[in-house]
Amino acid sequence: MTGVSFDSVFRPGRIGTLSLRNRIVMGSMHLGREADADDGRALAAFYAERAAGGAGLVITGGWAVNRAGAGGPDYGFVNERAGRSALTRVASAVREARGRIALQLFHAGRYAPAGSAGAEPVAPSAVPSRFSGVTPRALTGPEILATIEDFAEAAGNARAAGFDAVEIMGSEGYLLNQFCSPLTNRRDDEWGGDADRRMRFGLAVVRAVRAGAGPGFPIIFRLSGDDLMAGSSTAAEVAEYARRLVDAGVDALNVGIGWHESPVPTVQALVPAGVWIRYAGPIKAAAGAVPVIAGNRINRIELAEPVLRAGSVDFVSMARPFLADPGFPRKARSGRLDLVNVCIACDQACIDRSLRGRRVSCLVNPRAARELDLEATAHRAGAGTVGRHRFAVIGGGPAGCESARALAELGHEVELFEAARELGGQFRLARTVPGKADYGGTIAYYAAELARLGVRVRLNRPISGREAGHLAGFDGVVLATGTRPRRARVPDSGHPLIVDYPAAFRRWPSGTRTAIVGGGGVALDLAHFLSHRGETGDGHREFLADHGLVPDDRPESRNPRVTLLGRGPRFAPRISPSTRWALLDAVRRSGVELMPGVVCERTEAGGVRVRDANGEQRLVPADLVVFATGQEPEDTLVPVLAGLGVPYRVVGGARAAGGLDAVRATEEGLQAAGELAGLAGAARKRTIRVLP
Ligand code: SF4
Repeated sequence: MTGVSFDSVFRPGRIGTLSLRNRIVMGSMHLGREADADDGRALAAFYAERAAGGAGLVITGGWAVNRAGAGGPDYGFVNERAGRSALTRVASAVREARGRIALQLFHAGRYAPAGSAGAEPVAPSAVPSRFSGVTPRALTGPEILATIEDFAEAAGNARAAGFDAVEIMGSEGYLLNQFCSPLTNRRDDEWGGDADRRMRFGLAVVRAVRAGAGPGFPIIFRLSGDDLMAGSSTAAEVAEYARRLVDAGVDALNVGIGWHESPVPTVQALVPAGVWIRYAGPIKAAAGAVPVIAGNRINRIELAEPVLRAGSVDFVSMARPFLADPGFPRKARSGRLDLVNVCIACDQACIDRSLRGRRVSCLVNPRAARELDLEATAHRAGAGTVGRHRFAVIGGGPAGCESARALAELGHEVELFEAARELGGQFRLARTVPGKADYGGTIAYYAAELARLGVRVRLNRPISGREAGHLAGFDGVVLATGTRPRRARVPDSGHPLIVDYPAAFRRWPSGTRTAIVGGGGVALDLAHFLSHRGETGDGHREFLADHGLVPDDRPESRNPRVTLLGRGPRFAPRISPSTRWALLDAVRRSGVELMPGVVCERTEAGGVRVRDANGEQRLVPADLVVFATGQEPEDTLVPVLAGLGVPYRVVGGARAAGGLDAVRATEEGLQAAGELAGLAGAARKRTIRVLP
C-alpha cells in the first residue's frame, strides 16, 4: 500500500545500555490519569497498547518527585507508595507487550498551580508566572539539596519498579529549566548569578539520579533547545549545558522547545511540521557520541524518516501521534500508511484538557486514554456478544464515521449514507484552512479504515424523510447529519453581496474586499484562510520570520482586505484556548481588521452598514459579505426516526450545534455505537430466551 521506505526509522538503536528496536520514541504526555485510584490499570493499558503498536521507547508523562513538584491535582508521585505500586504495574504491562519504557521525573517549579498537591509552588526565585498565575516562593539552600535528593530517590524507585530508563524533565519552562534561565533565576548564591551557577542545579540532579539509579541505568535528559523567551538562555549557553550534561553522565539528550509562557506557538496546527528539528543541530554537535532525540510537530512517520536519514538526530520523538493512533509504527512497517490516523494538532482533547486539569483523550481517536473504560462499557452493554446486527449511519462526518468504525469493529454489518460525494463533513472545509491540511488525513483514514472493516459507504446518497422508512429494516440507526449554516438574521439576507461560509471556503476571487460577519471559530478560520499570505515549500522560513526567529526578507504584501465583524467583545471565545491566541495573532499579522462589539444593521451596495462598539454607525466597505454566524442542527430526520420503532441515537452537530466541537462529535459517535450494539445484543438475548 506504500512505496515509502522506513529503513532509518526501523533501524535498531541504543541509549546507553538499552537496546531499542527502532528510532521512534513516544514522547512524554501528561494524561490526567496518573492519580487514578485504580493502581495504575488505566495507565498500564494505555502504555502497553502503544508499546504493542510499535513504539521503540515509551516515555511516560511526568511523575512528580515531591509534592511541590506536581503540575496539578491529577499528578502521580514516584516516591509515594501508591505511585510506586501503579508504576510497577505500568512497567510490567509494557514489558509484557515487548516494549521499553522510561519514567519521566518531573518538577513543575513555578508552573505548579497554587496548592494543587498540598504544597506551595517553589522556584529558584519568586518570579510570577503568567502560565500558572502564581508567584512561587524561592527555594532555600537546604530545600534545593532536598529536591536533588528527591530526584535521586525517584530514580531508584523507577529502576525498582521495572522501568528501563528515566527521563529528567529539564525543558518547557519547568523547574530545571527555571534554574537555567536568567529570567527566573535571580539568585546570587551557588545556584545562580551567572550561567555557570544557573546550570549547577540540573547537573547536580543528573549526578544524583545516577547515584540513585546505579551504574548502567539509562538516563535521558530533556533540555530546552531554545526557551523562545526574550532574554533567556543564549544558544551558546544551551550548547555548553548540553556538553556538561554529557560529562555528568546522561545517556541521551531529548530536545524540547519553548516555554508555556512563550509568545511563539510550538505545537499548534499553524506551526509547520518539523520546524523545530533545526534546534537539535547545535545540541547534536555538542553531544558527541551521546544520542539525541528530537521532535515537536513531527506528526507523521513519513517526516521522521528523512530527519533520521539526514543524521541530524538519532531518535525522533512523537507524542500526540500516539494518542491519535497507538499502532502507527506497526502500520507503517506493514505498508499500511493509509490506515494511520494522523494527529491534526487541534490540541482540543489533549493539551487543552490537560491545561484545564481534565483527563486527556484525542479528537480523532476518542478511545485514547480510556481503553479500559470503553471496554467496560461495551461489556456492560453486551456489545458484540450475541449475534451480528445491521446498523445504518446517516452522515459521514467525523461523528458518523466514528460510529460506523466502532460498530464495524464490534463485528456488525454497517451501512453509511453520506449526502456529499466524499466523507468528512465539516473537515472538508477545515482542511482548506492554513495549517489544517491534515484534517484531510482524517478523512482519508476513515475512508480506508471503513473499507478495511467492510462498511458499505454510500456516497452521494442523502436520505430524505420520505425514504427514511426503509431504515426500519436495521437493528439501529445513528443520525450524524451534522449542521447547516445558521440563516443570517438580517432584513436583507437575500442581498446579492451575501454568501454563506461553505461557499466562501470553496472559491474566492483574489483582491475581493470581504466582510465576515461572525465572531466564532468558523469566522476566524475563514479570516485566516482568506488572509494567509501563502508560503513556499514546507513553510518553515515564513513561520520563523513571522516570529522573529530568522530575519524577515520577504517583500511587504499585506493586502488581505478582510474585516471580521464580531458581535461579542471577544473573538472565538470557545475554540481551543491553546490555539486561539496563536490564531488571533496570525490573522492580525496578516492585516485582518478585527472589529468586536459590532451590530450589523444591513448589507448595502458597497458593504455592510454597522453600529460599532462606540455606538457609531459606519459602512464597512466590502465586495462580498460572508455570514458565519453559527450553525443549526441538521436534524430533520429525527421525527421520522422516532416513529420507526428502531433504536436510534442522534450525535454530534445533529444533536446540538452549540460551538463547533468535533471532540464531542467523535466521542458521541463512539458512545452511540456502544449503546446501540448493546441494545441490539440485549434484544437478541431476550429473543433467544423466549424461544422453545
Ligand atoms: Fe492530536 Fe488533536 Fe488528538 Fe491532540 S486531540 S492528539 S492534537 S488530534
